[in-house]
Amino acid sequence: NTFESLGLSQEILEAVKDMGFESPSEVQEKTIPILLEEPTDMVALAQTGTGKTAAFGFPLIQNIDLNSKSTQGLILSPTRELCLQITNELKSYAKHYKNLNTVAVYGGASITDQAKQIKKGAQIIVATPGRMKDMIRRNIIDISKIDICILDEADEMLNMGFFEDIKEILSHSPATKNTWLFSATMPKEVAQIAKKFMQNPKEITI
Ligand code: AMP
Repeated sequence: NTFESLGLSQEILEAVKDMGFESPSEVQEKTIPILLEEPTDMVALAQTGTGKTAAFGFPLIQNIDLNSKSTQGLILSPTRELCLQITNELKSYAKHYKNLNTVAVYGGASITDQAKQIKKGAQIIVATPGRMKDMIRRNIIDISKIDICILDEADEMLNMGFFEDIKEILSHSPATKNTWLFSATMPKEVAQIAKKFMQNPKEITI
């Protein structure tokens, strides 16, 4: 299989070339065509290192309306390190798009600096749950118009005790959004999240 056959934009295909990716990984092959075809919820069981960041990142980027500066996509991830890693990957994927702004929001760093970046317009926010909740409570971030919410490493986020934060964050998002949940394992708690927050999700296992 080839990246060209997945339905990706020219801008993303250029970035794929720049990064030296030769062919899509299994999770990319399974998720990207589905996520590009029509709005849907999805549960994907995939470990780290499988290429899952591009599996959700490419379709997310391709869904952004570049004529709007409002926040359209939210990615929640368990740790600051992962949050920064995802942000850097997304910036590489989107480097051939003008006017696409991705901002990382995480604890242990200046909230003022992060707020300044958000103010400039962040179509995509990559966040850890605690800081994200804080910035919503302070009215710094508005996720009332997001189209896509990605829960990355959902099992880890629940292990770390973020369930209540995630619930509060999602309560500020529109019911019409699509949720893409990625997890290495499917314990009861993750299945409950999927049941509570998603509608007929497509299921992918690799
Ligand atoms: P991830 O599972 O998203 O953390 O990705 C693991 C690593 O594989 C990252 O460094 C990616 O840049 C890289 N990667 C993702 N997809 C591909 C691909 N199709 N071919 C080669 N490398 C890839």
